[in-house]
Amino acid sequence: MSGSSNDPAVATTNLPAFGFETTLVDDVPGVTVPWQGTHAPDPRVLILNDDLARSLSLDPESLRTPDGAGVLSGSTPSAEAASVAMAYAGHQFGNFVPLLGDGRALLLGELHDDRGHRVDLHLKGSGATPFSRGGDGRAVVGAMLREYLISEAMHALNIPTTRSLAVVTTGERVLREGGPRPGAVLARVASSHLRVGTFEFAARREGLAQPLADYAIARHYPAFVDLPSEDRYLAFFEAVVEAQASLVAQWMSVGFVHGVMNTDNTTISGETIDYGPCAFLDAYDPATVFSSIDHGGRYAYGNQPAVLGWNLARFGETLLPLVNSTPDTAITALTAVLDTFGDRYRQHYSAAMARKLGLADDGMDAALVDDLHRLLTEHRADWTLAFRALADNLRGSSAPFDSLVPPDASANWLERWRTTVSAREQNLPSVADGMDRVNPAYIPRNHLVDAALNAATEGDLELFDRLLEVVMSPFDRRDDRSDYALPAPQNFSAGFQTFCGT
Ligand code: AMP
Ligand code: MG
Repeated sequence: MSGSSNDPAVATTNLPAFGFETTLVDDVPGVTVPWQGTHAPDPRVLILNDDLARSLSLDPESLRTPDGAGVLSGSTPSAEAASVAMAYAGHQFGNFVPLLGDGRALLLGELHDDRGHRVDLHLKGSGATPFSRGGDGRAVVGAMLREYLISEAMHALNIPTTRSLAVVTTGERVLREGGPRPGAVLARVASSHLRVGTFEFAARREGLAQPLADYAIARHYPAFVDLPSEDRYLAFFEAVVEAQASLVAQWMSVGFVHGVMNTDNTTISGETIDYGPCAFLDAYDPATVFSSIDHGGRYAYGNQPAVLGWNLARFGETLLPLVNSTPDTAITALTAVLDTFGDRYRQHYSAAMARKLGLADDGMDAALVDDLHRLLTEHRADWTLAFRALADNLRGSSAPFDSLVPPDASANWLERWRTTVSAREQNLPSVADGMDRVNPAYIPRNHLVDAALNAATEGDLELFDRLLEVVMSPFDRRDDRSDYALPAPQNFSAGFQTFCGT
């Protein structure tokens, strides 16, 4: 994209080199604009992910210095690479917006993780950019800690996600509804920030779609690089459809509601991105919506697979001219791949449910899962607690599940399930232990997240640190953490809403 950088200041840090690379800027300059973060008066590291830093060969101690905080806030330019804002388009709640882009974010550069994979180091809240569209380019400490907490919890749940490296306070106050709040920048790490929206942007510019697709293939699906072009882009589409089908099945299995599944928040890598109005279910109900702006329930928990299918159709459209120069041939080929999405999703979800219920995946009785859904919905049972309670049931303790669904309602289903489990494996306690390895005892419960972020906004991080520690070991039930496993009080859940872009 053409455009000039804002005031490229001279680097002033004494930090060891990050080792930034800039392959996106070098190979596909048309989707980036060189841009520098806004000056932060007093950048300080509020929280740093030491393990993640080390896995990127970064030294946590130097990141904690004023120089480190300067770079991680976008305030101090790194000497190695010019930061850029990325351009993208996107369908927001179904409406096409031709230019969105990093309105408050910057790509600092690319690094390698400890498996040798290329990752982006990206900032959110680093100031206005050419894509800000009237927004202030800022972020506040509560919302950035929220993304830090929930993305790291998702990682601990073994769900593909962007990671959080640090939250840095800027020393500035940011005006939000409800008053001024402490400003902050999140430094996050992703296998890339290419989205369906990046392709929607490129498809509308001469000569940009193919270099972008080739770049994405080389970076994320290198096995297809040498395929002839008539196969390469179709294979690429199929790989993204598969990665996203698997991802949304995993969201569904832990009760995660993303909240704003616009096409600009759907990655090419298959990682979860952008933790704005997301939240976890407590009572199981497919109609659950947390986001204050999702009036029609488009992004309700139970709609997520269908919405993802819709987003992937928008992605497929951007690849039409690359797949075949004859539109009808390209449409037929891409549609055939898109049509596999539903089956792929169902297979991933069924496999996840089989693991959650201690069953074999092959030939699992779909009615058993449907009937469980019905029972849990009818009794507003807590989704997370239900699976740990079922494992307890196999160990001979029926009280936990009975407290979620009355025994007269559940007896028939429990009998069917136990019969199916025992037909495969007689050692029920061992099945229960296997279930506990995939069913979290702890998720970031909405009331706990709320309390932790409110205290953190007032400067007290104790609740946040404790909650982070709990959700980072989600499968290890501990007596001294039993409060963290409990659902929110009913009066909290009834009025609970989340907010976008905060
Ligand atoms: P999100 O809801 O975080 O996916 O953001 C959607 C779009 O709004 C992206 O283009 C963001 O860069 C932009 N955006 C969100 N918040 C702000 C802000 N405070 N200032 C400028 N742009 C923003
Ligand atoms: Mg976004």
